[in-house]
Amino acid sequence: MSLPSNTSQRPVALVTGSSRGIGRAIALELARIGCEVMINYVANEAAAEETCEAIRAESKVLVAKCKADIADLQDHAKLLEATRAEFGRLDFLVNNAGIASDKRVDLLDASEDSFDHVIKVNLRGPYFLSQAAARWMIEQKSVAENYSPAIINITSVSAFAASPERGDYCVSKAGLAMMTKLYALRLAAEGINVYEIRPGVIETDMTANVKEKYDHMIDDGLTPIKRWGTPEDVGRAVAAIASGSLPFSTGEVINVDGGFHLRRL
Ligand code: NAP
Repeated sequence: MSLPSNTSQRPVALVTGSSRGIGRAIALELARIGCEVMINYVANEAAAEETCEAIRAESKVLVAKCKADIADLQDHAKLLEATRAEFGRLDFLVNNAGIASDKRVDLLDASEDSFDHVIKVNLRGPYFLSQAAARWMIEQKSVAENYSPAIINITSVSAFAASPERGDYCVSKAGLAMMTKLYALRLAAEGINVYEIRPGVIETDMTANVKEKYDHMIDDGLTPIKRWGTPEDVGRAVAAIASGSLPFSTGEVINVDGGFHLRRL
């Protein structure tokens, strides 16, 4: 077995949900450290193209985009095949694509539809995409030199902070946190490190409709670092991992939350 002739000389990252928000910032930061990037989106092709253009405008790395629904396991094969065809290799899978609950409702009124949809996108999708990507990474380990792949999961402070008005989202992120540990244990012997990045309140489309509420909460001391997080804050944490700075860490949680997780007495 050998690597395909079109194989990139640079590391290649697949960032799910990178047309907008945190995913876009992750893609940009990875390009800045020299990764080639596969941009993924589900609906917003124009935004995905904007991410590609933003990368092309500032770096020489190759970038491509692929429409694939992370909730749909058949689309995973399409996404990985497109990555293989475009770049010939995969070094970093960033499981970033995610959705909020349909609407914030009391736990006792929450709907099955919202639960199923949120779990499919936020947990079942990354669970099986990681499985498929890990198989490909293991295959590449046997033929590529200096190959240090990693899987990076974007969870949330909702993995531990309970919000009863969006229980499905919290459950999905707690599951993704456990998934990080499971894959970290299984893949350590294969030379694949797995990380969890746990963002706090980040200013994106996802939080646009609760902006005023969180403005007040931040003013009132929700986070020791008194500001909104930015997508770049998360992107830079992913780039720190991809730059190889944490080779003896796996299953590690990196909080990007302005200190939200700290308890005070
Ligand atoms: P966002 O602004 O709403 O962007 C969501 C991105 O995910 C878009 O690129 C969207 O693609 C893509 N996406 C949604 N469903 C998808 C699917 N089924 N298949 C493929 N792509 C899909 O969200 P964000 O705030 O950047 O959040 C990104 C991640 O960070 C999520 O996992 C979220 O849970 C997590 N997070 C966010 C915050 C926050 O405060 N914003 C905090 C903690 C964690 P289209 O453009 O095509 O729709």
